Amino acid sequence: MANVFAKGLLLSLVLGLLTACNDQNSRPQTDIDGKTMGTFYSVKVSGDMAINKQQLQQQIDAVLERANDDISTYRNDSVLSRFNQTRSADPQPIPRGMADIILMAQRIGRDTQGAMNITVGPLVNLWGFGPDKRVVKVPSQQQIDAAQKNVGLQHLKLISDDRGEWLQKDLPDMYVDLSTLGEGYGVDQLVQLMARNGITNYLVSVGGAVSSRGVNGQGKAWRVAIQKPTDRENAVQALVDLQGYGISTAGSYRNYFEQDGQRYSHVIDPTTGRPITHRLVSATVIAPTALEADGWDTGLMVLGTEKALKLAEEKGLAVYLISKTDQGFSAVMTPQFKAFLVK
Ligand code: FAD
Repeated sequence: MANVFAKGLLLSLVLGLLTACNDQNSRPQTDIDGKTMGTFYSVKVSGDMAINKQQLQQQIDAVLERANDDISTYRNDSVLSRFNQTRSADPQPIPRGMADIILMAQRIGRDTQGAMNITVGPLVNLWGFGPDKRVVKVPSQQQIDAAQKNVGLQHLKLISDDRGEWLQKDLPDMYVDLSTLGEGYGVDQLVQLMARNGITNYLVSVGGAVSSRGVNGQGKAWRVAIQKPTDRENAVQALVDLQGYGISTAGSYRNYFEQDGQRYSHVIDPTTGRPITHRLVSATVIAPTALEADGWDTGLMVLGTEKALKLAEEKGLAVYLISKTDQGFSAVMTPQFKAFLVK
């Protein structure tokens, strides 16, 4: 009955079909791939580097390990898991990077009127999309009501003072879930790592979040493809050149379960306590940081096509939305997104 598809990348990295060796603009390209956050990362660097590939890979793994140690709900001893486990209402110390994520989440949470809501964890877990990954079936309304009592951004407070950053909750059973922002945060950490190593031509991705700058091994701008919203195909819907920005896509069609012919997506509407049911199937956002893009895409997914487009226009966001129609799919984008499209 339950049918959970593996999480797939909704964005893919297009490197061009030309072989680098025949191109007069060709330069050495270093490709590093690995696993993190229950998904894959990829780092591509073109041009000479001051460090060797092995050293760079070690630094990448160290940076991503630290992110997991801070914000993974899949690790019982992460800073975030310990915050979720404590029932104390006292402020708990958190690392600076985690505070940056919470701050962004609070801002986007406010702007989306709670549609993007990092306190949605009890509902995510109830619907079987959390770390427990139990066999899923539709929960009862009573269970949903009980979980919803522990959801609410107003119950979470971020405190910054000269001693550091602190997180405080006034609901003992609150469960903060930063899964929706983790990939974007990881990408931004890799971007900072590139800068620390003086690398200016790179494309980095963690799961569905990507950032790129400069040119690839063929001396051409990196291209990122937004995939068509189908279960298994890798067909390209649109191509963008990020120009140093971050991009992230949220979709309802790769991570879901089915019961009695009905699909239940992992994106939860905090107001109903249930997976979204509207026709918006993917939201892609380009923003100055991948963290910001990763936060907005989920918020817009929850809102649905019309509200998402209206908010994106009000906020001047670069957004590309794909909705299901009776005939197939239709796409709509803001003018800010058009500026990144590859003609
Ligand atoms: P996105 O669309 O970016 O986010 C959807 C997710 O956000 C949901 O799955 C849910 O968790 C949450 N969510 C749902 N509704 C809302 C809402 N309204 N507002 C806010 N959030 C919402 N997975 C594993 O299987 N194994 C691991 O070891 C593992 N480790 C991880 C470590 C870290 C640090 C992080 C951040 C994630 C980890 N994950 C792991 C989870 C996983 O890889 C993805 O990050 C997660 O499934 C969400 O990413 P996405 O791009 O698929 O979906």
